[in-house]
Amino acid sequence: MTGEFELVEPEAVDTPGDEWEAIDVEDTEADRIARRRDREFSEFRKRIKDTERFKLEESVFDEATYAAIYKLVQDGHIDAFGGPISTGKEANVYTALVDDHEVAVKVYRINASDFKDMRGYLDGDPRFEGIGQDKRKVVMAWVRKEFANLKRAQKAGVRVPNPIAVERNVLVMEYIATDGDRAKRLNEVHIENPETAYEVVREYMCRLYDAGLVHGDLSEYNIVFHDGQLVVIDLGQAVTKHHPNAGDFLERDCENIADFFARQGMDVTGEDLYDYIKDDDGRTESSEDAA
Ligand code: ATP
Ligand code: MN
Repeated sequence: MTGEFELVEPEAVDTPGDEWEAIDVEDTEADRIARRRDREFSEFRKRIKDTERFKLEESVFDEATYAAIYKLVQDGHIDAFGGPISTGKEANVYTALVDDHEVAVKVYRINASDFKDMRGYLDGDPRFEGIGQDKRKVVMAWVRKEFANLKRAQKAGVRVPNPIAVERNVLVMEYIATDGDRAKRLNEVHIENPETAYEVVREYMCRLYDAGLVHGDLSEYNIVFHDGQLVVIDLGQAVTKHHPNAGDFLERDCENIADFFARQGMDVTGEDLYDYIKDDDGRTESSEDAA
């Protein structure tokens, strides 16, 4: 892989604060479609279930998830479903076709997730207040939060997959790929120039933090390399910096990143990285120098 890493330019924006959008988890169009089960939806569901791929994975999708996908098709965000690129604990990621290009579709499993791992991120996030324990509502709020986090990160000048649409437990976003192959994660590539890569990651962490967010699961597994750029992914769990665990999450993110780059031969520590990110006055000058 190349040693050059291009830093995307932030949009000129008003300083983002700690505001958040209220997350609406009321009955969705997808739930209504699933209940109504009209002929068109039934045919759609049958068609998608009959494809080889879904015979294998049928259990993954419940009725309302098919309806969510159906809604995304109706709204023109998806034309045809592609193959899975990842099956995780809480979500599966697929590709889909729309017009002449592919998009990534992250489908959260409502029944499979037990939220044990989500709890530490949910509790204390004002965006989740009053949502309670209802799994459907929690997952829906989570997906909306991921969408909002991606938007906010993007606005702050962090290269992330462009968020396209969200419907119930399904998120559609830009597919980071080259010739149809998903971009490789940092742990999967050889980094020729770790210094520049580290500087870019550090800058993105600062921008995210200055935009009021902490990633919360940042490591070489959630950064992909594509076209000379580093792209930060998987922002579902990102919390605002006023979350009671934000400090711990940031510390852990710094630790993961510094450890990774230390293994690439760099003399960096999580503590230094943490202090650098926290010290937003001290670094303004140096980042201006770099620009
Ligand atoms: P995990 O639990 O494994 O951390 P997750 O289920 O929360 O992951 P992601 O990390 O968002 O899901 O995605 C899983 C994998 O799918 C990623 O490691 C990446 O390889 C791939 N992936 C996810 N989103 C995209 C995207 N927009 N473009 C390309 N690849 C993607
Ligand atoms: Mn991930």
